[in-house]
Amino acid sequence: MVKTKATVTSENATASENAVASENSTASVNAVKLRELIDALQRIAPLGIAESWDNVGLLVGDPASSIGKVMTCLTLNDGVLSEAIDRKIGLVVSHHPIPFRPLTRITTEDPTGRILWRAMQHSIAIYSPHTAWDNAHEGINRQLAGLLQLGNLRPLVPLMHSENSQRGNSQTGKVNQGTSLDAPMERELGCGVIGEFAKPVRIDDLVERLGAGIRGMSVRCTDNGERLVNRIGIVCGSGGSMLGKAAGERCDLFLTGEATYHQCLEADARGVAMLMIGHFASEAFSMRKLAELLAHAFPQIEVGASESESSIF
Ligand SMILES: [Zn+2]
Repeated sequence: MVKTKATVTSENATASENAVASENSTASVNAVKLRELIDALQRIAPLGIAESWDNVGLLVGDPASSIGKVMTCLTLNDGVLSEAIDRKIGLVVSHHPIPFRPLTRITTEDPTGRILWRAMQHSIAIYSPHTAWDNAHEGINRQLAGLLQLGNLRPLVPLMHSENSQRGNSQTGKVNQGTSLDAPMERELGCGVIGEFAKPVRIDDLVERLGAGIRGMSVRCTDNGERLVNRIGIVCGSGGSMLGKAAGERCDLFLTGEATYHQCLEADARGVAMLMIGHFASEAFSMRKLAELLAHAFPQIEVGASESESSIF
């Protein structure tokens, strides 16, 4: 785990902080209540902006428990969980939800049950921001737009026009926890991002800009790298199904992690260059930024991104 912030030592911790620390099962110097971390995560990535089909928020854990170490990752698999256990992590913030679908049993006989069972045995809480983080103000799509140096940013599908604003979050049954969707910041949010450059840019140059902030890209594009593009749509991860929205907004290029062959054919037929950088590459880099935001909010505990996680490809 890369430690983002220096841990406050017992010498300069306050008496009350030390009292909290004594409750911490992870035996870190300091600790905060999981409830406080959840509140901070929901300020960073409000659950009301998650897609209605998603499973976001606290998925495993006791909000009243004390947490001394937090680790972010893209996917909590067996290897990442082993790292969390080794590092005595109290909360894993996994971008991809686990569990994602409803469960009728938790046993070690299937991969999801095995991870949940192991995590619970080690008192590791699991929180997933998923599509709320995709679309947050400082979230993945906006970070990708920042790397591209894209301007005039707005949602590809504004929140007020998406299902979420009508139906709320599927897990909570209401629109967001604690933050009104009428908040000015959230009115600017939605699914994906669209923006323009001051003047057209070559696709090859865009790949180079992305490479400055993202490691391990496996770049594929349906168009020639020398093509000049101006209006760009962005949906991280598996965003191929959003091509129609990007085409409808007359995007020259659609950036995503991965898309199907037929979605690529459709992009080509509609004159949109489909630029794919790999699902892992399009999202994993952002978990370091999420760790930084949490570390800033909680300087008294250790927060960092997973060091062991890598793409399966
Ligand atoms: Zn993803």
